[in-house]
Amino acid sequence: MRWLCAFLLLLTLALPGQADGNGRAALARVDLAQSSLQAEGRDRGKPRPLDLRLSLTQPVPYRVYFLDAPPRLVVDFRQVDFSRADTKSLPGSDLVPALRWGKFRPGWSRLVMELSGPYALNVALQSPAEGGAGGALLHLRLDPVDQDDFVTRGNALSALWDLPQPVTGNTAPAAKPGDRLRIALDPGHGGHDPGAQVGAISEAAVMLGFAQELAELLTREGFEVVTTRQDDSFIPLERRMTIARAAGADLFISLHADALPAGEAAGMSIYTWDPDADDRATRDLAMRHDRADLVGGLDLVGTDDGVADVLMDLARLETHPRSEAFAKFAVSELNRAGVAMHRRPVRGAAFSVLKSPDIPSVLIELGFLTDPGDRANLFDPDWRAETARALARAIGGWSQDDAARAALSRR
Ligand SMILES: [Zn+2]
Repeated sequence: MRWLCAFLLLLTLALPGQADGNGRAALARVDLAQSSLQAEGRDRGKPRPLDLRLSLTQPVPYRVYFLDAPPRLVVDFRQVDFSRADTKSLPGSDLVPALRWGKFRPGWSRLVMELSGPYALNVALQSPAEGGAGGALLHLRLDPVDQDDFVTRGNALSALWDLPQPVTGNTAPAAKPGDRLRIALDPGHGGHDPGAQVGAISEAAVMLGFAQELAELLTREGFEVVTTRQDDSFIPLERRMTIARAAGADLFISLHADALPAGEAAGMSIYTWDPDADDRATRDLAMRHDRADLVGGLDLVGTDDGVADVLMDLARLETHPRSEAFAKFAVSELNRAGVAMHRRPVRGAAFSVLKSPDIPSVLIELGFLTDPGDRANLFDPDWRAETARALARAIGGWSQDDAARAALSRR
């Protein structure tokens, strides 16, 4: 089983910390007497399931991932004061080869637990402590897995933080044979949200049809495909990202076709996430695509929370260039296929569906339903097939380039 997360980005809502006398929030501390590391079963010299429980004086945002060589679990906290806590005083700390924790960047703490072999994270849960004193219990459950199922994360964040890099030698190549690239296709809109409409034509229906054709082609070419909807049903934007993440998607492609008064716009465009896109047309476009969710009162994973935003932005620092790289591959292949592109084919926009911090994501506007040429293309099976083939080539080219870059960044 390929465990669903290349890494987990776990964000708790930032509860207000207890303020000290100066009105500053006190840092969470770890209570070692109430914390433990336990191993399940008898020690036969092999890795055993591990349960790490940390009792904290207050809940904190955190994230968890694995690194290799040597295998280890990393937990980043914002923020825990470990200064008065000796790792040796944690009951069970001798069950692992090494355990370290401490402060890294201002506002950030890190726990590193070396492991005796490859593991997967099967529980990561922060819950209010019993007794209701405002504390929290972080419970992580790790189960041994085969090396093939050991999912680690590249170290761009570590590099960013000036941390020592692991020595990887020549063990770097990321793509394992048989580990097929997984593409999430997201036909826009659906159900009570038809998207753009021109006469009897709805964006939702046209995109569903194109997504099905593209999914078929990609599957034939050896990619795994997950689609966020298979019929004309309404799927909230947040769930579209969740579906992709749960499937372990390596790339997320949202498919749309806009409408503007005839003559105003034509050609294909590819968008990547940019919260600061200040181009009014782009903002309006994002509003049109997001409207159904906005009207439905749904918002995304607590992103009003400044702390969560910081964590998400950190993760995006390494994901965003990968999204942009895919957009460039796509433009180049679409150009080669003779597909008419917008005069600025790659742009940034604040489409909510592109917000995943950990999955490279693009939104493709295949064309404008209001433009007669674009509309004719969208209804032309040859054009659709040519476009799908260009996108498949772009995915293939990008994934090779991406794996090569990942290997380089681990050197
Ligand atoms: Zn749309």
